[in-house]
Amino acid sequence: MQSNDSKDLDLVEDGKRQMELCNACRYCEGYCAVWQAIEWRRDFSDTDMTYLANLCHDCRDCYYACPFTTPHEFGINPPQLFAGLREETYRKYAWPGKWAKALGDSVAGFWATFVFAIIFVIGFVFANSGFDGLFRPQTGDGAFYVFFPENLMIGVFVALGLWMVAGWGIGANRFWSDIRSTKSEKDRVLFKDIKKATLYAASLKYLDGEGAGCTYPSEEPAKARRTFHHLVGYGFLLDLASTTLASFYAHFLHIPAPYPLLHPVVILGSVGGIMLIIGLCGLLYLKSKSDKEVNDEKAVKTGSAFTWALLLVAVTGMVLLAFRETGAMTMLLAIHLGSVAALFFTAPYSKFSHFVYRYLSLVNFAQEERVAHEAEVAQKAKPAKKPVAIAGGIASKN
Ligand code: SF4
Ligand code: SF4
Repeated sequence: MQSNDSKDLDLVEDGKRQMELCNACRYCEGYCAVWQAIEWRRDFSDTDMTYLANLCHDCRDCYYACPFTTPHEFGINPPQLFAGLREETYRKYAWPGKWAKALGDSVAGFWATFVFAIIFVIGFVFANSGFDGLFRPQTGDGAFYVFFPENLMIGVFVALGLWMVAGWGIGANRFWSDIRSTKSEKDRVLFKDIKKATLYAASLKYLDGEGAGCTYPSEEPAKARRTFHHLVGYGFLLDLASTTLASFYAHFLHIPAPYPLLHPVVILGSVGGIMLIIGLCGLLYLKSKSDKEVNDEKAVKTGSAFTWALLLVAVTGMVLLAFRETGAMTMLLAIHLGSVAALFFTAPYSKFSHFVYRYLSLVNFAQEERVAHEAEVAQKAKPAKKPVAIAGGIASKN
């Protein structure tokens, strides 16, 4: 039986074979950033493959355009190849690596973390207040902190937040060193490269198909995937803004949660939660309809597990809001807090980390794009070579 490492190696080698064939063909030139990045390379290192995989947005345009997909002997399938390599990225660059294998590589390990965290929080309330405590209605200022002391809650989530950010930071540093390993000193990243990469990421430019949308879940171009992805991304940011604002109210203005329905904290959180739920359900639906020939089986499993987990967090948050004045509040809060804690804990290893590697790849791409453009402008600005007469014919000067 092949080990995971040798399977990963096979994938990298097969990736190089496919990219060399694509570089000779170049039919997909202009489809996305990947095809431009390929043009700037003659051959491909292992780290180039990692970079290209994370630059690919899985729009699938190239697959449906390609005459060399299976059953052709070339067996070209860039979206499937890149999905497999991206999956490897989340494990390879994560810290600590051993945990990444246990929690990121296995869907069972991922879900076990959620089950453990939720049972742990419910057990905490049960141990302190018994069965009655779990179903006793709590209302008014500070109701959320009756069974979960405020300082304990802050301490736990600050620690988990630091864990998540440190994991992403270490992964980002390792990934960046690898994909930049072939660059020289003069290939520095400028502020305008970062600005451009941020625009590419914020607009999901490479899921746009130049206005027609992408060929996902089927060969027919559609805008649904980009729309749902936007709902998830911006919904998440609104929820983050709501949590930050709630901290400000609680710790600087000394007004504890829960807040009234028309309070800015609740409005931001509700709009973000609804956007998340619609976006995540839409992405899950599209994934269920997606072409199996193009999917990487493992990437689909781990990606779907993350999407369901984020949906669990969003739904429990909204249900908590709806039933916060009933006897179900404490139990709902326990499930919500447990699922958020597990989401934070698994964040450095799960699909959650994909935005870190995708963004860094876009920064690298924006820098390569600028350098290529500057070289082109410099080439055009060069004075034309003057022909000079030599004995027996004409030759150019220089
Ligand atoms: S994906 Fe197919 S059509 Fe596109 S460049 Fe590669 S070989 Fe050519
Ligand atoms: S699937 Fe889309 S984003 Fe990925 S390489 Fe092909 S054209 Fe580019």
